[in-house]
Amino acid sequence: MELRKFVYQWLLNEKILGEKTIEIVGTISLDKMDKKTKDRQMDTKDGHLSEGNKHLSEGDKHLSEGDKHLSEGNKHLSEGNRQESMKDRQLGGIDTQKEVRPQITALNKLVLGCKKCDLHTRRNKLVFGNGNPESSIVFIGEAPGREEDESGLPFVGSAGKQLTSMLKSVGIDRDAVYITNIIKCRPPGNRDPLPAEMNSCFEWLDKQLEIIAPKLICTLGKHSTFSLLGHVKPLEFHQTLSISKFRGKIYEYKGIKVVPTYHPAALLYHPEWKEATISDLTMVKKMLDRV
Ligand code: SF4
Repeated sequence: MELRKFVYQWLLNEKILGEKTIEIVGTISLDKMDKKTKDRQMDTKDGHLSEGNKHLSEGDKHLSEGDKHLSEGNKHLSEGNRQESMKDRQLGGIDTQKEVRPQITALNKLVLGCKKCDLHTRRNKLVFGNGNPESSIVFIGEAPGREEDESGLPFVGSAGKQLTSMLKSVGIDRDAVYITNIIKCRPPGNRDPLPAEMNSCFEWLDKQLEIIAPKLICTLGKHSTFSLLGHVKPLEFHQTLSISKFRGKIYEYKGIKVVPTYHPAALLYHPEWKEATISDLTMVKKMLDRV
């Protein structure tokens, strides 16, 4: 800077350049200096900017950390929902989240003391149900007959043999499925169950299904079909409806697929219905293979 001043002064003294020229050259020189200063300042500013970007990037990191926490929060929320849903599944003192078998045994003990309808006064044994409660399918019949009432097991008479044989013919092992009835106590003289008896007993079937949580239900005969589907959509005068109009189609009860077919006992009197029953059971087996 001092050298430049000295050179300007010398040029001025020697009258090599006029004052105006010196002013211009000085201005240009100063402009150059200003530009350098500006560039330097810009560099500094860029530095700050870059520092700012670093902070911004740090912020992004924190934001992403926040997202992680949010996602953790959602996980906890989802866990909370699961626990809430588990709470919802507690029915009448029966915690359906526990092992299926102990729960079914506990429910069986509870139903043994049931006096909700007059049928308990005449029965020998309560017929609660048997088979594999962890199965994906439940077969529901009508009510215990004489042999069932004596043994306490469903489908052990001639109708039971018929059922076992038909299940086998389509590739279903009877021991691998769960079998029960709409009514747990035998109606006198094997009469049809009354609507009031079916309504009284339905609570127990509903709890069995809640515990077992099958993917598929096969109703055997019109009483179990109309009682179950009647709880979804009231079927007026359902006692007069025919099972032949319902069989072989897929319905739903609380999200579980329901396939109605003929009652095995009916096939003893109507062997012509056997082919249709086998066809329905074949469909059931195919559905079972897919669940
Ligand atoms: S039929 Fe059902 S409702 Fe009636 S007493 Fe027996 S278990 Fe109870």
